[in-house]
This record gives sequence, structure tokens and C-alpha cells, in this order.
Amino acid sequence: MKLYNSLTRKVEDFSPLNTETVTMYTCGPTVYDYAHVGNFRTYALSDFINRVLLFNGNRVKFIMNLTDVGHMTGDNLGDADTGEDRMEKSVVKEGRTAIEIANFYAQKFIQDYDKMNFIHPEKFTRATEYIEEQVRLVKILEEKGFTYTTSDGVYFDTSKFESYGQLSGYTTDNVMEGARVEINPEKKHPTDFALWKFSPINVKRSQEWASPWGTGFPGWHLECSAMSLAELGNTLDIHVGGEDLRMTHHQNEIAQSESATGKKFVRYWVHGAHMMVDGGRMGKSLGNAYTITDIEKKGFDPMVLRYFFMTSQYRSKLNFTWDALQSAQNALRRLYELARGYKREESAKASKDYIKKFGDKINDDLNMPEALAVVWEMIKSELEEPEKLATLLKMDSVLGLRIEEHLAYDTPQKVLDVAKMRSEYRKAGIWDKADVARKQILEMGYEVEDLPDGKFKIKRKM
Ligand code: AMP
Ligand code: ZN
Repeated sequence: MKLYNSLTRKVEDFSPLNTETVTMYTCGPTVYDYAHVGNFRTYALSDFINRVLLFNGNRVKFIMNLTDVGHMTGDNLGDADTGEDRMEKSVVKEGRTAIEIANFYAQKFIQDYDKMNFIHPEKFTRATEYIEEQVRLVKILEEKGFTYTTSDGVYFDTSKFESYGQLSGYTTDNVMEGARVEINPEKKHPTDFALWKFSPINVKRSQEWASPWGTGFPGWHLECSAMSLAELGNTLDIHVGGEDLRMTHHQNEIAQSESATGKKFVRYWVHGAHMMVDGGRMGKSLGNAYTITDIEKKGFDPMVLRYFFMTSQYRSKLNFTWDALQSAQNALRRLYELARGYKREESAKASKDYIKKFGDKINDDLNMPEALAVVWEMIKSELEEPEKLATLLKMDSVLGLRIEEHLAYDTPQKVLDVAKMRSEYRKAGIWDKADVARKQILEMGYEVEDLPDGKFKIKRKM
């Protein structure tokens, strides 16, 4: 498999350190609010990498974290140590405890994650469940002389880490140019970052822990190092995140992990380009940070979003518009319909030629748009129907579009009953009851299409 490595800024041949199993870590969401479709583009990236590796016959040990403490709002302005803690902010806004908030949004996130048909990691690790590991990491860094203490926390001295800036391009010298926030005057260098932050004097935070340096909470960058070192060892193969994380979060993960272990932290850094909306930034304040529920409310199955993600390679910007989603829906519906129409034979084999062609595209730094083109080329080819279906199902192990579930099915009796009742109401002109029945059918996952003469057709909703 070829992957673009942000560390070397080159497309490289990927091979795992340990031939048995590929280790992969993806920076997960901060569970203080709903994740939006942009976030899901990044999680789709790690899902595609995972699926391509499995397609190639690798074993994958995959970990994703859930940030439930220490992610400051200042991160949006370029300094992750300033501003308010997102979790604490939600505690005030929602009047619930931090644990309640984290549990609620973590559960919502995993529900959406399942709707997108993303393969689960071995664990969703939570920052608050790895406090001991994080404290231990700071102790090691302190013993090795990489830290200093200010009035508000324990900081990592980036000037002591020689290759600081290799990933981000920012060093202690040139970072000032890009800085948009007032620099904490106690920091020795603008790139230095908090490992442990103290609870403010006379303030009882809803989340705080005792530590050798004082009561407080871990810095955001620390959790990913502590959890990936604990779960995947000192050197992992692939680390995934959105492009915004390259500049500070990931650069800081490298600095603290490598200073502590003396080993290379990550072999391949993979960063996904952000998704835009209507050509602009996606943001809560702009009202365009759509959630999976928002797109479902507009009548789109999450699989349509998944198909839409594949229409662009992950390093290119992708622009979300409702029209573009509609086109993806048209294409996907066509695919399901064709698949449903194919004759199935259990003995049929996938076409070696098309699987090879498809495999070449997905292995070429995840060229999903061209992989999709191979899917359509195969569909239009001269292959026999059972072969086409077998090929499509094999490809779907990577596409993840749940094609199998959309093949021939029996409509449940309950759905048929309600549909017949609806038809009677319509004949009698009782439109409100007919409408209620239509909604009931939708809730059961089906759609009813009216045909002439009071007849109807039932389809599985998508
Ligand atoms: P956060 O919850 O803000 O920490 O973000 C979780 C993940 O989503 C990170 O990997 C971000 O880089 C990524 N992300 C945030 N906004 C977008 C976007 N518009 N498009 C793609 N990925 C995004
Ligand atoms: Zn992270």
C-alpha cells in the first residue's frame, strides 16, 4: 500500500514494523458536543485505511480515543493551552456533570460511528481512564529534564527536543509569525506546551486529579501519547487525524513521546484535508456544522455520506453541498438497484481482473474516486450477473456501503399491513391518517411509492 506520509512529505510504500499486525491510532472526538459531518470525513479516512489493510490480508490493531478532559477552546486560535476547557464549558452550559456529558456524547458518537459503518477500534480509550499513565509520562519527562513549571502548569520545553518542527514546519524561531494569540509570558518559547495544568486557585473544577505537581488536569496533547504508548507500544505504524492536528497536536505528541522513550513514535503520519461547506469553513457558529442526524432528517441515509466521501481523494478539499449529497444518493440508489437485480449464484467467483484493478486504486494512497470508477466500469462490463455481484460484494468489504443488506429482501408483514391500511385511507380521502401511516412505514425503515389505480410499491428506505 502506498501512503502519503506527512512527516517525510512523500508518498511512501507502507509496510508494518511487525509483519503480523499493523498498529494504528486515530485522534478521536472531544465528547462535549455532537460530532459533525466534517469530523466524520476524518474518521472515514481511518476506516478506509483499516479496510484496505484488511483487504490486503493484514491484521490491524486499531485504537481511537475519546477526549473527555483538557481540550481547551484556545486550540481554535492556535494555542491549545489557553481558553476554557471544552468539557467544563459544557458542564456550565448544560447543567450536567462532566461524566454525564462525556457519556452522553460518547454514546451518540458511537451510534453515528455505527451508522457510518465504520469498523470499531479494539478500544475507544478515554483520556480520564488513563490519568495514571499520563502522570507517569510527565514524571519521566521531568526526570529527563524536558520540563519546567510556571504558575499555571508543567510545560514541555520544546528547545530541548532537537527535531521539533519536523512534522509541523514550526520551530521555536519561526512560530511567532503565525501566532494569533497572546503568548503566555511565562512560557520560555512560544511552541512550549502544557503537560499538566493546575486547577485555578480557589476554583474546584468538575474534573481534577492530584499529581506530584499539584491538583489539576492533563494537557490535551498528553493523552494521545499516553494512550497510544500504553496500547500500541513505543513505535506505532500509522497515526491518523485531520490536517489541523499536524501543526501542534501531533508535533507535540511526537516531542513528548520520543523524549520519553528515545524511540521513533510514529512511522507514518496520515492527515486528511478538511471538508468545506458551500465553499467555506464548517463551524457551529455558522450553523453549517451538520450532524448525522441533520442529514438523516433531510432524508439521506448515512451511507450516502459515505459514498460522497469517496468522490474525492482524502488529501483534496471536499465541498459539502446538499446538491452534491443528492448526486451521491442518485448514484448509490442506482448501485443498490442494479445489485438487487443481479442473479445470485453462491458458486460465482469475483472477477480477478477487476479485483486487481480495484486493489491497485485503493492501494494507491487511497484513490477512492478511481476505485469507484472501477466499480462502475465492472458494472458496465460483459461479466455475467452472478460474477458481477460476487465482485461487487468483495469490493464492498472496502467501500462499506452495506450492499449485501440491500439485496433481495422480504418486506415484513407489519409494514405491508400498515401500507394496505394507508391505501384504504387514501381511497377514502382520510389524508391525515394516511400521512400518519406513511410516517409509521418510514420509521420501520421502508418507503412507499404510489402507483396508478391505488396500487403501491414498498422499498427499503435509504
Ligand atoms: P475535534 O473533535 O475538534 O478534536 O475534531 C476531531 C477530528 O475531526 C480531528 O481529527 C479534526 O482534525 C477533524 N476535523 C475537524 N473539522 C473537520 C472538517 N471540517 N473536515 C474534516 N475533518 C475535520
Ligand atoms: Zn490526538
